[in-house]
Amino acid sequence: MPTILSHVAVPLAIKLGVRKQEISLRLLIVAIVCAVLPDADVVAFALGIPYESQWGHRGFTHSIGFALFMASAAVFFATVLQSRKRVIFPVILMSTFSHPLLDAATNGGLGCALLWPLSETRYFLPWTPIKVSPIGIDAFLTGRGLAVLESELVWVWLPSIVLALTVFVFEAVLLALLLAYTERQRATKQER
Ligand SMILES: [Zn+2]
Repeated sequence: MPTILSHVAVPLAIKLGVRKQEISLRLLIVAIVCAVLPDADVVAFALGIPYESQWGHRGFTHSIGFALFMASAAVFFATVLQSRKRVIFPVILMSTFSHPLLDAATNGGLGCALLWPLSETRYFLPWTPIKVSPIGIDAFLTGRGLAVLESELVWVWLPSIVLALTVFVFEAVLLALLLAYTERQRATKQER
């Protein structure tokens, strides 16, 4: 996996890119939890479930099926999450599914069961630029940890920030154009 820090980049980027009032703080917190949650499956190791099993690490929790389930379940809590259902669904879906997609872009471990429950096949993306994070803090504090953070900075955080800013600027320009248009309409109406 990339480090937990970097999984959080996606929901934060979504929040940054979308107009503020659309995503409540509660929804943002749940989205962040959902972006990290798939790795709760590491308990499989302790339970003796093999890595390559569909119930093992990077198995069913790292799939579109799991992401769809989480997004559908979250919709029922619209009141608690203080957001609209049509906002909750895509935000939770993207946040949850971004986790296995990022994992599938790492250069180590087994791939992710992206298509579960349709298929148990483990997938990697055709391009895997993210260095896989060593498990355990000791290994992390060595030079390898630094190399991992550096690759995540370049391949996760930088694209997330660029994407968020692009959406943000695009929205601002669109809003400005719309405002200018309605202003002109009003002006021409008054002239008549
Ligand atoms: Zn993972």
